[in-house]
Amino acid sequence: MTQQLNVTVWNEYRHEQTNEKVAQVYPNGIHGAIGEGLQPAFNVRYATLDMPEHGLTEDVLNSTDVLLWWGHMAHGDVSDEIVERVYNRVLQGMGLIVLHSGHFSKIFKKLMGTGCDLKWREANDKERLWVVSPGHPIAEGIGEYIELEQEEMYGEHFDIPQPDELVFVSWFTGGEVFRSGCTYTRGMGKVFYFRPGHETYPTYYNEQIRRVLRNAVEWAKPSTRAYPAYGNAQPLEPLN
Ligand code: ZN
Repeated sequence: MTQQLNVTVWNEYRHEQTNEKVAQVYPNGIHGAIGEGLQPAFNVRYATLDMPEHGLTEDVLNSTDVLLWWGHMAHGDVSDEIVERVYNRVLQGMGLIVLHSGHFSKIFKKLMGTGCDLKWREANDKERLWVVSPGHPIAEGIGEYIELEQEEMYGEHFDIPQPDELVFVSWFTGGEVFRSGCTYTRGMGKVFYFRPGHETYPTYYNEQIRRVLRNAVEWAKPSTRAYPAYGNAQPLEPLN
């Protein structure tokens, strides 16, 4: 049996403790619902903002193959030192899956280098996520589209760099569209942004959403290649 991937689910974990509606939808935290969907396929650990070092110590990150990130109301409370640590681990090959309102997290903005702003509306829109790369491993097992009866709307323009690959495009009842499944590589690391997951909706219990997250973890796992050699180099052939 091959070694299970080590997945760390990071959640800000503030809405659940301050908003009764969110606590009812996610009694074990948003991270708990995400982690449930990733088990037993992966070895899952949790980290939250209020833990020492936000739960992302050197030891935790060094033993994490793929990190998932959910944050919203407290992006500014994430220390720059930890962001730098996560950033360096991504460049070294750790996979990163940024969820929903994580589009405005320090780590995503740093990795993208753009404003990452978008349009939004909380009005119970229906969302239909169309698979636009049917051969992509992240869409494995998903039909033509995923339908979510109620979600927050995110609309274009989404201020991100052109994705390496676009896996999902969302349509909303209000008429907007959104690039809702985007892949990037940064250094040795693979990054996937996945849009759905507003805190007042039960999105992370949806079986198809859970399937996408499992697929994304598998896709984002570190490569087994050695880190590239940089800097001064000896010639491979004799020089005249
Ligand atoms: Zn939201």
